[in-house]
Amino acid sequence: MTQSYQPTASHFINGRYVEDSAGEVIEVVYPHTGAVIATLHAATPAIIDAALDSARAAQAGWAALSGSERGRVLRKAADIMRDRNRALSEIETHDTGKPLSETLVADAASGADALEYFGGLAGTLTGEHIPIAGGDFVYTRREALGVCVGIGAWNYPIQIASWKAAPALACGNAMVFKPSEMTPLSALELAEILIEAGAPAGLFNVVQGYGAVGGALVTDPRVNKVSLTGSVPTGRKVYAAAAEGMRHVTMELGGKSPIVVFEDAHLENAVSAAINGNFYSTGQICSNGTRVFVQDAIYDAFVARVAERMDGAVIGDPMDEATTVGPMVSARQREIVAGYIAAGRAEGARLVKGGAVLDGDGFYIEPALFADVTDGMSIAREEIFGPVMSVLRFTDEAEAIARANATEFGLAAGVFTNDLTRGHRVAAAFEAGTCYINAYNLTPVEAPFGGVKASGVGRENSKAAIEHYSQIKTVYVGMNDTEAAF
Ligand code: NAD
Repeated sequence: MTQSYQPTASHFINGRYVEDSAGEVIEVVYPHTGAVIATLHAATPAIIDAALDSARAAQAGWAALSGSERGRVLRKAADIMRDRNRALSEIETHDTGKPLSETLVADAASGADALEYFGGLAGTLTGEHIPIAGGDFVYTRREALGVCVGIGAWNYPIQIASWKAAPALACGNAMVFKPSEMTPLSALELAEILIEAGAPAGLFNVVQGYGAVGGALVTDPRVNKVSLTGSVPTGRKVYAAAAEGMRHVTMELGGKSPIVVFEDAHLENAVSAAINGNFYSTGQICSNGTRVFVQDAIYDAFVARVAERMDGAVIGDPMDEATTVGPMVSARQREIVAGYIAAGRAEGARLVKGGAVLDGDGFYIEPALFADVTDGMSIAREEIFGPVMSVLRFTDEAEAIARANATEFGLAAGVFTNDLTRGHRVAAAFEAGTCYINAYNLTPVEAPFGGVKASGVGRENSKAAIEHYSQIKTVYVGMNDTEAAF
């Protein structure tokens, strides 16, 4: 029998769990078995109201603390999160289907990194002093924005919640976070942890719901900033709605990122990067390098080696730590992926390996490797968000760059080469927010992460995130008599 993961209640507001069973039902399904492991309710208008009011009430006092005091709370929360890593990872595996071998190292662990990093940075946040001719001067104050709304996707639930909460809280903001309706559980754990670490009630609230709840939050006059992680179509809607109220935004959206492998590359490293960048988290990663451009001379060897290495994938029970490929998050997502695999074949790509939907109750599909993919095929143009690698052939550098950039997306891009100058030249030419040379998909908290073009606005992680969760006030100080024309 599958274990229940029923939380105390659906929402976490003003420091405690709250329920309103009038809200639409949200069933949490374990992707390995299809069993319902929790039943929650979407937020009603009364719940949304309570969450925003409590965030507003908590924010002023929190912003009045010193940065070091705020930082202490975040660093304590990081410690608690690390202490609970296994329990949090098991929740995340049940919510998403991602193998425990991944969630143990990449989810709560990365959330804790963000809490620790921004906790450390909180005490360093200052304005500057600007001398003006004649003795006057200007100083700037770095101030909080107010109440921030965070809206999450389902692929990295606690990581996304933490990547938004940590910089927001470090800067003196409060947050109302709405997890994806597919994966509502772990954000509630983060809310509890922050309270235990000493955060005031109301500072970080979690409300559940489908898109309509997100929509209601984005347009509420009490909200000063919206940070969304989601698809481009949702990003367009949320950005437009936020613009109406002139709210700040961060948009972490989808991608169709290229990995360009030159003939002088370290083949095995490039193959490893392509495997990680397409099949980790069963391919459900925004920055995945789903268009792998490989130079003529090594094309066949590259495809053959990826296919060979795919034999090593262990597909199955995500709670078994030997498993490396879990189920997809939902039957619906698997259906979308299977549709793309069918389209790839119909459009003339060569399915080298995998791609079969597996029998059983879980939402399993084999990772798929396509060769002979051309730029116009739907599998080379659209974000699939599943384990489908497309390998394309190229001849020279200029051609590879032009084709890599010929997309509306611009989240990430990677180049594999042993030519030092070429590596930097290609990275500079990529139209993408996060680029890699001889590496792929690593996202340490110290490095800015985010997209260009349709892939997003703003940056998460690193000192750059501070700019997106605070604003500068200018104070001009007159040290001289004021003159007037009359
Ligand atoms: P989605 O766009 O369907 O949903 C994202 C969130 O937005 C959910 O919480 C959803 O309830 C909410 N939402 C939907 N409609 C809304 C509306 N009108 N107003 C406000 N909120 C609304 O995305 P998804 O399927 O959950 O996640 C997959 C997508 O997320 C992929 O495109 C992936 O690339 C992207 N993603 C991006 C990053 C990044 O950092 N760039 C990270 C992870 C996932």
